[in-house]
Amino acid sequence: MWRDLKPIGRNPGSGGYRRFAWTGADAECRAWFEEQARARGLAYEVDRNGNQWAWLGDPADGDAVVTGSHLDSVPDGGAFDGPLGVVSSFAALDELRSRNVQFSKPLAIVNFGDEEGARFGLACVGSRLAAGQLTVEQAHRLRDADGVSLPEAMEAAGFDPDVIGADPERLARIGAFVELHVEQGRALDLSGDRVGLASAIWPHGRWRFDFRGEANHAGTTRLVDRRDPMLSYAETVLTARREAQLASAVATFGKISVEPNGVNAIPSLVRGWLDSRAADQASLDTVVSGIEQAAREHADAHGVELDVVRESFTPVVEFDHALRDELARILGTDTDLKVPVLGTGAGHDAGILSGTIPTAMLFVRNPTGVSHSPAEYATEDDCVAGVLALADVLEGLARR
Ligand SMILES: [Zn+2]
Repeated sequence: MWRDLKPIGRNPGSGGYRRFAWTGADAECRAWFEEQARARGLAYEVDRNGNQWAWLGDPADGDAVVTGSHLDSVPDGGAFDGPLGVVSSFAALDELRSRNVQFSKPLAIVNFGDEEGARFGLACVGSRLAAGQLTVEQAHRLRDADGVSLPEAMEAAGFDPDVIGADPERLARIGAFVELHVEQGRALDLSGDRVGLASAIWPHGRWRFDFRGEANHAGTTRLVDRRDPMLSYAETVLTARREAQLASAVATFGKISVEPNGVNAIPSLVRGWLDSRAADQASLDTVVSGIEQAAREHADAHGVELDVVRESFTPVVEFDHALRDELARILGTDTDLKVPVLGTGAGHDAGILSGTIPTAMLFVRNPTGVSHSPAEYATEDDCVAGVLALADVLEGLARR
């Protein structure tokens, strides 16, 4: 399966992947999924939001056990984020068939569309639409960098955009959704474990900091006469690092815009975007209010004005405790495998669906901790350990 997927959407320059929603590379990935489903005699269907499903057993029976992930990528992304979950799902089913497992519940493998949001700027569009967390009107307003709207892109790819929208009947047939994913950090590498269980997705948000000073000549303006917003901004970046460290959180200024943006001009405006995430809401509040308060002091010290605007916010996602305990119990029976429980700072379809159905996640060790880059990696042995853990989980859930 890896061999088949390897060339699809690969950028020869960077070695990374460009599998954006409703493009040619995406269509090739989707054709691969359909082929895998049909080769295993699974019933294949595409739902009204473009998500692909492969069923074993009758979905109408309800309480289905579903696993899967996504096949799209960020710009120049790695091979594992998404595809590892889909490939492992098919491999786990093969493993269960070789064990002759009889299921008392329907089982399905899913490929959620447009998880990364690389093209239209919003992540998890397929699962958000299905769960009713993105309205049809909002979806119709999404546009890519060339001005192509989501419905136009869907139509160009041969999909009917008029049927998109919340799909409660479909989700109501699912009793549990388990997503396997490559870890996007180094917790498993540091603890020496191959596989981990997710506890929660950290709350996270984005804030815009506008530092306004006074543009002036870089050569003729005395230092004492300046109102330089770059200084306040720079001090705030260092504060953000310190505050995050104190709270065991993360805080990043990764984007900046400067006016007038001239080499020989003191800036009039420095606009910086803060991305911050923490294990819980209280820690995140502490970090961000600490940064904001320090930024005001830094601004005052330089005669600079400051506006802070929260541009987006996603609260904590706690995965279903009963399902997580059950997975821990199933995996705990294998004494070779101790399964640590970890939080994550990244969003996933499983997080979106957790508001509607019980969901859980398995992470596979990533020795570099790097993701969303061609350096993203998992060893073959660890991938196999992930497949076996997923097979055990599906077997335990589908027979209960
Ligand atoms: Zn992913």
